[in-house]
Amino acid sequence: MDTTHITFRVKRYDPKVKRYDPKVKRYDPKVKQYDPKVKRYDPKVKRYDPRNGIDEFSTYDVPLVPGMTVLEALWHIVDNIDGSLSFRYSCRGAVCGSCAVMINRTITLACHMQVSDLLPGPVTVEPLPYFDVIKDLVVDMEPFLEKYRSVHPYLETDLQPDGELRQTPDERKHIEHSVNCILCAACHAACPLTTMDDTYPGPATLTAAQRFSFDSRNEAGPGELLKIGNLGEFGGCMKIARCSLVCPKGIEPSERTDEVRRWVTANTPAAGEQSVVSVCGYCSVGCGLAVHVKDGCPPTVTPAVDYPVNKGRCCPKGWEILAPLTAPDRAATPYLKNDQGKLEAVDWEAAMEAFTDRFKRIQEKYGPESVAFISTGQIPTEEMALLGCLTKFGMGIVHGDGNTRQCMATAVVSYKQAFGFDAPPYTYRDLEESDVLVFVGANSFISHPILWERMRLNSNRPEVIVVDPRRTATARVASRHYAVKPKTDIALFNAVAHVLIENGWIDRKFIDEHTSGFEALREHLSRFAPEAVSKTTGLSQEAIVDLARTIHEGKRVSFWWTMGVNQSHIGVRTAQSIINCALLTGNIGRAGTGANSITGQCNAMGSRLFSNTTSLLAGYDFKNPEHRQKIAGILEIDPGLIPDTGSWSYDRIVDGIESETIKGLWIIATNSAHSWINQEHLRRLFGNLEFVVVQDLFTSTETAAFADLLLPAAGWGEKEGTFINSERRISRVRKVADPPGEALSDFDIFKLVADHWGCAELLKAWKDPEAAFQILKETSRGTPCDITGIADYAFLDANGGVQWPFAESDQLTSHERRLFTDGRFYHPDGRAKFLAGDVEPLPEQPDEEYPFLLITGRGSVSQFHTQTRTGKSAGLRNLYPETVYVEINPADADRLGIASGEPVGISSRRGAVQAATMVVDTVQPGQVFMAMHYPETNRLTFPAFDTYSRQPAYKACAVKIVPKRRKQ
Ligand code: SF4
Repeated sequence: MDTTHITFRVKRYDPKVKRYDPKVKRYDPKVKQYDPKVKRYDPKVKRYDPRNGIDEFSTYDVPLVPGMTVLEALWHIVDNIDGSLSFRYSCRGAVCGSCAVMINRTITLACHMQVSDLLPGPVTVEPLPYFDVIKDLVVDMEPFLEKYRSVHPYLETDLQPDGELRQTPDERKHIEHSVNCILCAACHAACPLTTMDDTYPGPATLTAAQRFSFDSRNEAGPGELLKIGNLGEFGGCMKIARCSLVCPKGIEPSERTDEVRRWVTANTPAAGEQSVVSVCGYCSVGCGLAVHVKDGCPPTVTPAVDYPVNKGRCCPKGWEILAPLTAPDRAATPYLKNDQGKLEAVDWEAAMEAFTDRFKRIQEKYGPESVAFISTGQIPTEEMALLGCLTKFGMGIVHGDGNTRQCMATAVVSYKQAFGFDAPPYTYRDLEESDVLVFVGANSFISHPILWERMRLNSNRPEVIVVDPRRTATARVASRHYAVKPKTDIALFNAVAHVLIENGWIDRKFIDEHTSGFEALREHLSRFAPEAVSKTTGLSQEAIVDLARTIHEGKRVSFWWTMGVNQSHIGVRTAQSIINCALLTGNIGRAGTGANSITGQCNAMGSRLFSNTTSLLAGYDFKNPEHRQKIAGILEIDPGLIPDTGSWSYDRIVDGIESETIKGLWIIATNSAHSWINQEHLRRLFGNLEFVVVQDLFTSTETAAFADLLLPAAGWGEKEGTFINSERRISRVRKVADPPGEALSDFDIFKLVADHWGCAELLKAWKDPEAAFQILKETSRGTPCDITGIADYAFLDANGGVQWPFAESDQLTSHERRLFTDGRFYHPDGRAKFLAGDVEPLPEQPDEEYPFLLITGRGSVSQFHTQTRTGKSAGLRNLYPETVYVEINPADADRLGIASGEPVGISSRRGAVQAATMVVDTVQPGQVFMAMHYPETNRLTFPAFDTYSRQPAYKACAVKIVPKRRKQ
């Protein structure tokens, strides 16, 4: 084997073939001054067909340099082609996702893959047909320039040989006013000028973006480096425009300068500017975002530097969190369906009259249980608690659930059964302190990118193990990947537990003192010897024993799971098989340990504890008369108003619509017509409902199309409240802008409903979100989630959020606290329970007619759920495929005669859709993958549910693939 070089086979573009249609203008030069109301780009117009001109593979010899990434190797190749393009990449973040490329037929972030991991080669590199950025790194200069010209028509004059800049004042203004940088640092990476110097000042831990702002050659001070007008002073801009070309947002260097300045001054507002820290409204990581507000200017966002969760980082979604607020399809007034079946604008009075009149008539006709609601993990805790109390104590509604059923119900039930309370035990610092981390069904690299960044701060050189049927981005950067067969993780962890017990690799003292059910577990596991489960899981016996040995040898082992476990027909018992391994080895309650479920939505944990849906407030039980009495006493209401039964789960509510038990439905901040499993079925069932109210930010969601009444709601940044993140941290959400038109916060909408329904008196103490917070504090007193020690909102602001529990008698001595440090769990005997289950056959197995198993999941770091919000940002849209795609293994693609980029038909017994093909070996033969963000995906999924949690099993159903032949 050659130890000095490695062969790269790179699919490049043929420069002779025109990829761009110069007639399609992205930028209208007539609109020179940036006017936010003028749409400069039409995202629906394809500027070029990325498939044009893809040539055959070219072969390159790349020298092996220690630590060299594939991205650097690609640039070496480009360097060979054009000497002006020599530079060094310094990205550490891998959070922008803009360098996604196919390496050896696997979608990978090129900045994260070391060339040495691909020895002996050859390394095959192909552009992704539907990504816009990295593919340009493997082309010649001319298409670069052509693309740049299409964006910036004045480039022609910029490129004059005398180097003189010839921008008009209007053009400069256009540049300066388009502030939208996401600080992914791709520009910095791409610029030969800024990277000619190999040394960067500042601590080694600075991200590339931070280095960008602190570059020592910037004599004018941080943030001034890339002003186009100054470039001559720094050695002369080569005007190759790479910075703009690689920018996922297609914006100019000087614009990002403004953003960098904001970054540097995040906590020291300039004159007239105020910064408040608000927790992110997308995922459950719960990053702190500094929102900068100045009179007369739109607010801007940077990651909060001192926030204990993200420590100055955030992913592209965080940077773009304000984009949805100014989207053209914001609902700015209520809409009511008229006699012609069309929604027409009405005032709040008419909207409330219709709401109360229609729902009350339904209840009178069919009984109080005939109206239900579906809520969300996306609104503040105070709002969802008010909704739960309004509906259940004021409106007589019994059944209401949330979209958290779709992501977290399995974790809730598995914790309740094992620990006695829904209690994720960890703090994020555990990611930094483990020496073995086991990720199960968790693609955290893209789904929870800032958690992954925390893990990268781990100085123990940890073993990172990923258990996942797909070779996900996370699996690619892990030290070991177990490509387990779908839904057989339970067999794997049962076998691991079996090996741990049989070899005495267990913490007998911890088991004896702090757990129950060990003997029953041991007996259950006797049939899970590695040789018995090897075939089931698709893993070798040695691999299973090896995993057990690694867990045994680790001093601080942590287990992390998310949707790959939760969204399963056997999710609860699978989660508990993971919990068992942590308990058996005493890996809980200590630094760097834990059986840790990572939540999905920003406030899933708030929904779990305080939504008053299946559980009474603060984790109490509707069925327990003492609990009802206690909550009634705190709320000062008649206990008889509290239902003595919990709600139906989401799927039971859907069944209720089918059986016509439910005739009225109120949907709040969720997009059921896109996200619910077996979507077409639900869409048909809307026809059974007599009145549907949709409360949302936008008029254009798939669910809004079924509304009889649409209530316009304020979004993140337009209201106050708190979220609870994955590590139980309660943090503030701040109002920094007014909602558009007549839109109201959900809190105010619920109060308005209470007024019109006639139950306002019942909720008189719920004056505003902070008053609601004080009520919720009281409900938590003496429970495992006691938060009575949090004085008020100002206390949360001052402390970067506070993790529960924090009782009145507690002192806040640390920003990072984990549970069970004393070995006491929440069951009455203080012990954690071992619970065991078996593998169960997939509810819908592939067969002759539908031979592929469809797996669904997160597509990219820049997409969130049904894209109602991420789809509003042009910057985020640049980072992911515009249309639905299906990933298929090369062997299956060859057999079917399909290539990457070609359209195929995909059908299941429930629906048929079309998608573009991506041929990748990240999926195993016989399996295909589709991202959940496209409405097509859930037309195919099969409605199976976990027995205990009723969470939908999104991740496995049978489909067939039908090639659509290209025209000859
Ligand atoms: Fe952080 Fe998640 Fe928001 Fe990204 S989406 S900024 S990881 S909280």
